[in-house]
Amino acid sequence: MKFEKEISSFLELEYGKTPQDATPTQLYNAVSKAAMRFLAPSWHKQPGKKRACYFSAEFLVGRLVYSNLMNLRLLEKCEDYLKQHGIDPAVFEQIEDDALGNGGLGRLAACFLDSAATHNLPLDGYGIRYRYGLFKQYFKDGFQKETADDWLRFGDPWSVCRPQEKVMVEFGDQKVWAVPYDMPVIGFGGKTINTLRLWEAQGVNEFDFDLFNKQQYELAVKERDEAEWISAVLYPNDDTPQGKRLRLKQQYFFSSASLQSILREYVARHGEDFSFFSQEYAIQLNDTHPTVSIPELLRILMGEYHLPFDQAFTIVKDTFAYTNHTIMAEALEKWDVNLFVSVLPSVYPYVVMIDDSLKRELRSCGILGGDQEKYKIVCTNMVHMARMAIYATHSTNGVARIHTEILKDRVLHEWFSLYPDRFNNKTNGITQRRWLALCNRPLADFITQKIGDGWITDLDQLERLRPLADDSTVLAQFMEIKAEKKKELCAYIKEQEGVQLCADFIFDVQIKRLHEYKRQLLNAFCILDIYFGLKDGRVKDFYPTVFLFGAKAAPGYYRAKGIIKFINEIARLINGDPKMKGKMQVLFVQNYNVSYAQKLIPAADISEQISTAGTEASGTSNMKFMLNGAVTLGTLDGANIEIVERAGEENNYIFGATVQEIEEARDSYHPKKLYEENPRIKRVVDTLIDGTFSDGKTGMFKELYDSLLEGADWHKADQYYLLLDFIPYCEQRLKVNRDYADRLSFTRKCFLNTANAGKFSSDRTIMEYANEIWDIG
Ligand SMILES: *Cc1c(COP(=O)(O)O)cnc(C)c1O
Repeated sequence: MKFEKEISSFLELEYGKTPQDATPTQLYNAVSKAAMRFLAPSWHKQPGKKRACYFSAEFLVGRLVYSNLMNLRLLEKCEDYLKQHGIDPAVFEQIEDDALGNGGLGRLAACFLDSAATHNLPLDGYGIRYRYGLFKQYFKDGFQKETADDWLRFGDPWSVCRPQEKVMVEFGDQKVWAVPYDMPVIGFGGKTINTLRLWEAQGVNEFDFDLFNKQQYELAVKERDEAEWISAVLYPNDDTPQGKRLRLKQQYFFSSASLQSILREYVARHGEDFSFFSQEYAIQLNDTHPTVSIPELLRILMGEYHLPFDQAFTIVKDTFAYTNHTIMAEALEKWDVNLFVSVLPSVYPYVVMIDDSLKRELRSCGILGGDQEKYKIVCTNMVHMARMAIYATHSTNGVARIHTEILKDRVLHEWFSLYPDRFNNKTNGITQRRWLALCNRPLADFITQKIGDGWITDLDQLERLRPLADDSTVLAQFMEIKAEKKKELCAYIKEQEGVQLCADFIFDVQIKRLHEYKRQLLNAFCILDIYFGLKDGRVKDFYPTVFLFGAKAAPGYYRAKGIIKFINEIARLINGDPKMKGKMQVLFVQNYNVSYAQKLIPAADISEQISTAGTEASGTSNMKFMLNGAVTLGTLDGANIEIVERAGEENNYIFGATVQEIEEARDSYHPKKLYEENPRIKRVVDTLIDGTFSDGKTGMFKELYDSLLEGADWHKADQYYLLLDFIPYCEQRLKVNRDYADRLSFTRKCFLNTANAGKFSSDRTIMEYANEIWDIG
């Protein structure tokens, strides 16, 4: 049946509705189901080919309907269909995102799946089907409030439940079913369709109401609820002790279920001869969250199939590879041994076996006694997951060049000395299908007009724009597209936030999770410095600017919430000051997510990437902005380094201490001295305590003030060097502002960022994984 007919007939049969009287949710389900039927014949695994499996606790896929339709080449058909029935094709913007991830790590997983399917690489994702995704955020009196993300209320037409493929997962105190829901991962053009398999936890008791007495019934309900609890919520990025046990259960739940389903497939083909396993499967661990897969595979091979340790461990090592995403100490996962044993008693012995094997290997390398401490997997009553992930795999990679160097030189230096060949870099990327073709259609069409549409699957072709950088007609068109996207964003923000922004201002944007190391507070201080400078007359000829923020703070991260409140107070002061009319506006948008990013990024002139050098492993929003023609105002950190290397330092705005300079400053750093000696620093920092702003008597602002000048039990004063970088940041920001006034020369910089963004396609990244780690190229 034709796609359009299929939509109408679904509406008719399922809801008894015509397109005109269907609700947006009904239309969404009808369109998605019609597309699912359309793709069904191509959704199968190619036999005999090695497959790679991406194990990840998060997949931040965002809104699927438009991207899936685009990849199936059905988007225009669908839009025509809607228009014919008098419906705005933007109707699906009411459908909320699938937000099964926190931020960059989860979004990377989603971009990888898109790229692999587009390039015909057999890569499947494995994760958790959280009942509730990342919380929704709104502001009340400038404070962040959270509500549950009930994403399933729109239905889930893109998933297929496969109850016949459920598997049992056993903990020390609990048994649950893991039930798979498969989503098609549609490559551009629709030729290859891979699978994202997400597991839902269900109780194991059959409900037989006739047999149950009240007590049995209540026990059964309790058992079911406790089972469902395992896949109920996505953990935000904050570690609270209460959550630890459940988090370990979640990790084992999807690791074990995924391995069982892979092994079931394998055994059906080969029986119990495991000698082909690592030639047929590669498993990538996205950070340490799925690392418990390592002892779990060992347990299955040894415990259930009776392989000897050496043989099983070789299979494990040849199969698994590990990606490190952060050097933040608190994110390198460790589990208390007692907790681990109590949750996973049958897995722990295999952790010990791996640790023993490691110790034997260390001994054979002449590393003895106390020198072994920094390697041991079980050490001071903790299980060190990153150590296990490095030792029991054949590959450890960082996610940007500088990040990998820092891992090799510092964070994991002892491991690098032992296994230099295991370490490699895979600089992150983003999919240009979502982050250009879909989110910025005017720019996509413009590029296609100039160089053809090959860039959609081969982003390096953007290079062919370079010769046009001196053509003023081309630049004028490029500028016009940015202006159009700004107007669109203003309309959207007016609707969402009730704030009217000026579309002819500079748009300066910082969007990413709220974290001290990302330094939104530094951005806020600099805005205040400009504000005071404008009032005093110190800052002259300032090009009017809209400063935009978007970020969620983990609900338990007190300081991050204080920073949100502080920025909202600044926005209130500045937006309410009549003298600032026509000069500056500040806005923190609510509920930043993938779909909001798709609106903000095409409208940005300046991309704020201002983390302390050495702290941001890669960053990927920096790449999205670059692709859409914004200049980076940033530090030499993460992928910023590779971005300016490509687009030219003269076309971006780098400032601040380098990794090495921070290193050298570390021991002699006295933020209080900077504060006392520099009146501009003092003035902005003092707004935290001098009554300029109110934190509603929570004490949040004083706590932020102390974190900068006094430190706390767990860290030194200003551990992220805000005050060290403050003046250089302000200077550089004013320089961008001055340069912007020369519209043509500034647009040229923006244009050259787009033209040089080819390297940052996740197509490039995924092909590197495929060729250099998985051997599926
Ligand atoms: C790309 C993306 C991120 C990652 O942003 P960074 O600035 O690299 O930390 C986080 N959240 C969303 C919604 C994204 O789209």
